[in-house]
Amino acid sequence: MALNYGHSAEHERVIEDCRRLAEAVEPFAMEADDSSVMHTPTLEALRSSGLSNLMVPAAYGGRFDQVDPLAVCLAREVFMKTSSHLDSVFALQGIGSYAISRAGNESQKKEWLPLVGRCEALAALALTEPIAGSDLKSITTRVEVSGSELVLSGAKSFISNAGSASFYTTLAKEGDGYSLFLVPADSEGLTITPSPEIIAPHVLGELNFDNVVLPAQARLGEPGTAFKHVLATLSVFRISVAGAAVGLMQGALEEAVSHCQSREQFGRPLVKHGPVAALLADSWSDLESARLLTYQTAAMAAEDPVANLDRSSLAKLTATEAATRVVDRCVQTMGRWGLIRGSKIEKYYRQARPMRVYEGASEVLRLGIAARLVRDMNNGS
Ligand SMILES: Cc1cc2nc3c(=O)[nH]c(=O)nc-3n(C[C@H](O)[C@H](O)[C@H](O)COP(=O)(O)OP(=O)(O)OC[C@H]3O[C@@H](n4cnc5c(N)ncnc54)[C@H](O)[C@@H]3O)c2cc1C
Repeated sequence: MALNYGHSAEHERVIEDCRRLAEAVEPFAMEADDSSVMHTPTLEALRSSGLSNLMVPAAYGGRFDQVDPLAVCLAREVFMKTSSHLDSVFALQGIGSYAISRAGNESQKKEWLPLVGRCEALAALALTEPIAGSDLKSITTRVEVSGSELVLSGAKSFISNAGSASFYTTLAKEGDGYSLFLVPADSEGLTITPSPEIIAPHVLGELNFDNVVLPAQARLGEPGTAFKHVLATLSVFRISVAGAAVGLMQGALEEAVSHCQSREQFGRPLVKHGPVAALLADSWSDLESARLLTYQTAAMAAEDPVANLDRSSLAKLTATEAATRVVDRCVQTMGRWGLIRGSKIEKYYRQARPMRVYEGASEVLRLGIAARLVRDMNNGS
């Protein structure tokens, strides 16, 4: 399946470097992917690879001038095929720090971004609350200005990296608007408990802010500008979920093809039975179309991430919906061997499912995509 997708030499080098890291992680990938707490060997492997530097701008130790959406997608494709834990730790470095790169002042950038780029600080983004999920404007976490300080109170739920992160980029109401705040993990009044375990283990926790006192400089950007920075973050990192979904599909299809070549029924390999071949062919079709849309969208996002939000949503919707179809077909082609706990294919089956929920659930993405479609068609573009 080795095809030339026309990547630049620089992007090819990213793929090679990521493959080296994935090979190093492969021996303990199953153990890591079964863990709901930070898996230290995986974290150390990422740290020593230096690849966290894909998540910060060059001025703060990054590999590209600005965070490059295609490089992030290619990395997540390679990582997710091997280990969702590796993929998640890597992705969170960007998801949690992108608002600092974009909206932080010089001292916030200098304090945190080089540490994130070296993977010496772990990042997290805290938006979701026990009540507020897709409807982020219904959050109740609030900041009050008290003299030269800010006082944060409220709760966040299902936050990736909670308990391991060094800081939480936190969405809160401020007056009638919404602002983002950089909350160090060791802030007094911040307590963290584990979230319920999900079907595909993930480092997740609940944050409680009990009158956490922050300096006025903890705000990221101007008061009331949170959603601008959150949408920019989503614009870049939604596409990268598509990249991860492509990696998952590739892994699942390799498992299925290998099985269907070696197992015979009715005197011929499974792959020679038309209905089984059709399941594989349809899966390859889903994979390649999602892959090309993902690469194209990521390249477009490099030029103007914010203008690209609906395209990013389209790529995420396409690739994650395809991933659940593909992995389900692959399980089917493998018969009872598709169902064995602890096998790669079973792992992919569980891991595909949450992708359609986080960073924009499919139904909510469709609303934005359809609105954009109508707007563009009415404008004749
Ligand atoms: C593995 C994992 C990691 C996560 N990590 C983070 C993190 O790091 N930081 C963070 O802030 N959050 C995180 N989350 C939370 C995630 O962002 C939310 O789960 C997501 O936003 C959906 O919110 P919800 O689960 O409350 O579902 P709800 O918003 O309750 O939605 C439930 C269902 O209703 C549909 N729906 C909702 N509104 C509409 C509508 N208007 N029209 C049509 N359908 C609608 C949804 O599509 C969905 O199918 C994570 C979640 C998971 C599973």
